[in-house]
Amino acid sequence: DKGLMWFRRDLRAFDNAALFHALKSCKQVHCVFVFDKAILDTLPRADRRVEFIRESLVALDAELHAVAGQAGAGLIVRHAVAADEVPRLAHELGVQEVFANHDDEPDALVRDAHVRGALANFGIGFQTFKDHVIFERSEVLTQMGKPYGVFTPYKNAWLQKVNDFYLKSYPVGKYIKALAARPKAYQVPVPTLADLGFETTNLSSLHVPTGSPGGLALFEDFFDRMDKYDDTRNFPAIKGPSYLGVHLRFGTVSIRQLASTAYKRMLVGSKGAETWLSELIWRDFYHQILHHHPRVVTGAFKPEYDEIKWDHHKHAKELFAAWCEGRTGYPLVDAAMAQINQTGYMHNRLRMVVASFLTKDLGIDWRWGERYFAEHLNDFDLAANNGGWQWASSSGCDAQPYFRIFNPTNQSEKFDPEGKFIRRYVPALAKLSNKAIHAPWLAKPMELEEVGLVLGRDYPRPIVDHAEARKLTLERYGVVKKAK
Ligand code: FAD
Repeated sequence: DKGLMWFRRDLRAFDNAALFHALKSCKQVHCVFVFDKAILDTLPRADRRVEFIRESLVALDAELHAVAGQAGAGLIVRHAVAADEVPRLAHELGVQEVFANHDDEPDALVRDAHVRGALANFGIGFQTFKDHVIFERSEVLTQMGKPYGVFTPYKNAWLQKVNDFYLKSYPVGKYIKALAARPKAYQVPVPTLADLGFETTNLSSLHVPTGSPGGLALFEDFFDRMDKYDDTRNFPAIKGPSYLGVHLRFGTVSIRQLASTAYKRMLVGSKGAETWLSELIWRDFYHQILHHHPRVVTGAFKPEYDEIKWDHHKHAKELFAAWCEGRTGYPLVDAAMAQINQTGYMHNRLRMVVASFLTKDLGIDWRWGERYFAEHLNDFDLAANNGGWQWASSSGCDAQPYFRIFNPTNQSEKFDPEGKFIRRYVPALAKLSNKAIHAPWLAKPMELEEVGLVLGRDYPRPIVDHAEARKLTLERYGVVKKAK
């Protein structure tokens, strides 16, 4: 039998569920990746993610060559509408089955249903597998058989259920002989960014490692820091987190390998590993929330929060633009927005701070911020991003209560006490003292003068007063209390 392995968000040749099953059950397996025009056509012409994927495909292609130990084996890469191209190619190659890993985002499910139908018309099967998370869909349910809506009991049930079976790697190498040589006509190099109609970004000058070699290097680097993660993870100026988000997004690392490493370390008493594993469980948690409640893509998880009247006046557009461009006058918020704009990454603590600021200081609908993140984050993931925004705006499952409103200045003093992160991303403030840097508008005029900083010229004054905004937000969120 012949099979076709369709890579999507699983760009690695090791520990890959669908690839393993394809190789195990077919005599000959071809591999394809489609740069999907249905997605690419909606993106700006410079997009770090497209570059990340392209680089990762070059690595995947090389890996397939290497593991197969033969020339000709490798990846067929297409630039087309995936929903049409995959059935067409499968038919052309004369395969009996197409293999892929689950993608539970609503648009992907629609695409896959279309592909399944089109393949069936050719008499070709479509098999899909869990690969992206440890537990998906309805694998972890309450004793009543319902999906969890609160994280801690979900996490406890997750930890109760997990064992070697769920954490072990798929031994792809065992059946690698089935990897087929590409027919001559398909032996073309991975298209360049220009071929795809995209521009080069600053990804390589940022030294973002790509492909599974890049993912492995980052994980090895993090491995030595994992035990300290619980102490370091909240401070954006410190190299605390793993920076693996983008690799988890595109599957250039294996979640099973990461989770089993953290799990084993937790069992021998590492607090850092325990906390980090907990973050990986949040990832599974939001994944199953999206599966059970796809309506969160457009509406609040808690519907009463859709009654909130957000500030949508012309003024709100200006405030939103200031937030996007890091001109709010709140140094930590502005530094965080500079980080995402310059690098496509933002530290988790800062994602919470800027999301709270947008919704609860500026009174702007969380969906505006969600969209901005979706466009700019290298590690953008619908389930996690939606979950994060709904958490910050209090509308989500297990979100923070609406009356908990981050004070952006206190957050800055607490999590960037020496202003190191702010100095890195807002050079205009670099010379201020550790005290003044968190709230320059409160600095003594003499200090501003000494460092030559004129507020309103070199750096904005605050665009809102936090104390006033807080009051307005409590009123705005009042509808939620009434609805209960
Ligand atoms: P680490 O701290 O090393 O964590 C390891 C991994 O755990 C992450 O890569 C991620 O896969 C997972 N993870 C960590 N925290 C969470 C979380 N709260 N929810 C779900 N998974 C988590 N994460 C995304 O992967 N994509 C997003 O689009 C995204 N948007 C967010 C938006 C907001 C408003 C907030 C508050 C959080 C968002 N997060 C998102 C979660 C988190 O901020 C990032 O996963 C993390 O900062 C990525 O950096 P890292 O890989 O260095 O993380």
